[in-house]
Amino acid sequence: MMLIGSHLPLSGPLYFEETAKLALSFGETAMMFYTGAPQNSRRLPLDKMRIGEGDAVLEGKIALSSRVVHAPYIINLANRGDLDKLKAMEGFLRSELERAARFSAPILVLHPGSHLGLGSEAGIKNLLLSLEETLADYRGRTRIALETMAGKGGEIGRSFEEIAAIINGFSRPELLSVTLDTCHLNDAGYDVSDLPGIKSEIERTFGIRKVACIHLNDSKNPRASHKDRHENIGYGTIGFATLEKWASDPDFADVPKILETPYYKEKPPYGTEIAMLRSGVYVEGWRERL
Ligand SMILES: [Zn+2]
Repeated sequence: MMLIGSHLPLSGPLYFEETAKLALSFGETAMMFYTGAPQNSRRLPLDKMRIGEGDAVLEGKIALSSRVVHAPYIINLANRGDLDKLKAMEGFLRSELERAARFSAPILVLHPGSHLGLGSEAGIKNLLLSLEETLADYRGRTRIALETMAGKGGEIGRSFEEIAAIINGFSRPELLSVTLDTCHLNDAGYDVSDLPGIKSEIERTFGIRKVACIHLNDSKNPRASHKDRHENIGYGTIGFATLEKWASDPDFADVPKILETPYYKEKPPYGTEIAMLRSGVYVEGWRERL
């Protein structure tokens, strides 16, 4: 069974129980969510989130190993210009790791951050300092999966070499893994239609076994645009045939594939996108029939 799902809301009144039901309604065998709003640090106490009820819904349907939590994208550890803010963000990352563990998620996806004009090398150095400070005594089981980025603004992690520099520069590399985002890779300049070529680049840098999660998205923009605008499967510049190859690749069979494609006319596209990727059959004009 292909491990595939989508990012999902986690909101009241039923919280994780509702998230779990939604995942199953889309036919998902993997899932991803934020433990609170991605753009702020306010967090509801976990005992209000009906985690046990959600677990009961998911039992036997979505394995714990296919649960992914996404860290809030406001966390930026690649610039140390504001040390008070940085300390707060380090604490926030640590608490998100603990929250992810309470949801039994083995993976916390983290954007490597933005150097804000300092250059990638300095940005990577800053991130490494923060990871050392934050994870020195970390004993949890949830690992961080650094996401490959499109390279907009001063984003670091826009190449496999940069991701490898972060992993290899860290004293506890076993705590770090990688999330590949097909839209970001395309926008960063990679030819994602050449999957064998991508895999050999990965082998040459951080190694295929470090891939812990794949964000499967089409892109609104051409290769090397450095934009990061996700598109529905088949409606972008990457296309269904390529994304289906990624979804069904045997080297990624154990890796959760997560759609972060946009709603269309306020309707979630995930049920249809997942069904097409599973069957390998594309339905022209599917979005109009949601
Ligand atoms: Zn992300």
